[in-house]
Amino acid sequence: MRVLITGGAGFIGSHLCERFLNDGHDVICMDNLLTGKMENIAHLFGKDGFVFVKQDVTNFIHVPGPVDAVRHFASPASPVDYMRYPIQTLKVGSLGTHKALGLAKEKGATFLLASTSEVYGDPLVHPQPESYWGNVNPIGPRGVYDEAKRFGEAITMAYHRYHGLDTRIVRIFNTFGPRMRIGDGRVVPAFLSQILRNEPLSLYGDGSQTRSFCYVSDLVEGIVRLLGSTCSDPVNIGNPEEHTILEFAEIVLRIFDSKAGMTFLPLPQDDPKVRRPDITQAKELLGWSPAVSLEDGLMATCDYFRAEINR
Ligand code: UDP
Repeated sequence: MRVLITGGAGFIGSHLCERFLNDGHDVICMDNLLTGKMENIAHLFGKDGFVFVKQDVTNFIHVPGPVDAVRHFASPASPVDYMRYPIQTLKVGSLGTHKALGLAKEKGATFLLASTSEVYGDPLVHPQPESYWGNVNPIGPRGVYDEAKRFGEAITMAYHRYHGLDTRIVRIFNTFGPRMRIGDGRVVPAFLSQILRNEPLSLYGDGSQTRSFCYVSDLVEGIVRLLGSTCSDPVNIGNPEEHTILEFAEIVLRIFDSKAGMTFLPLPQDDPKVRRPDITQAKELLGWSPAVSLEDGLMATCDYFRAEINR
């Protein structure tokens, strides 16, 4: 297959480029490098079947030749990034998804939308099954991401129903691993960079909010399985092992044998109080569940950040 991956130079996008190449496909990696990095894909240049195109997918997407599959992963994805680039975030989730769908329709390609657990907002149902419609503040600071992704899901389903496009939607819960940007503001890079600099871990609020962290290789496997299914409804992919952020900080300090301690900072507005995927669908439809432990994932990610800091 000839696969277009938008956001292919980003954290998750670059892992997907690698996986599709390894599976024997040709990959067109498209990115405007707003939050993606050339370093993430540098090792793929020179591999047979890999090309990089620097393009903003919110404008008309031009790809010469056949395309069998479109994987739409372009978007700022950390709260700090989408608050820094609110308009770009809204545009890539709405206009960018429309353009990517239009290209898929034109080329007769299959389409996958990277959606997010943020469609559930600050959830009132816990854990979150796909059937939950969410609790999103449309005008809050996170609304730019949440609503763009919700629109992205709506237009993907509309192309599926109206145009008969073969579509998939993956709702990605907190994912971590190598190639996250060390300064992207998310809790895993924040804590690991603090460990490496021997600084106290920065906890927002009292740390009672919960998250569930999935290692990137598990996510990629879930996505590949979803693509191999016929499921056009959204599917949650994430790790259901839930921790408060305070527990998570304690785990990080213990794993890395650190005495740096913690510091408490104000909780950002609309920070979800709980988050944990219900992965019944992924288990039953895809035979998928995560395999990498939090500790192993954190070790591998920390090795990556150590190398980044020393570079
Ligand atoms: N958080 C934290 N310290 C940090 C960064 C984040 O305590 O340095 C908290 C944040 O308030 C949230 C959780 O960790 O409750 C996860 O934040 P992240 O930005 O990784 O992603 P989110 O799940 O909020 O999209």
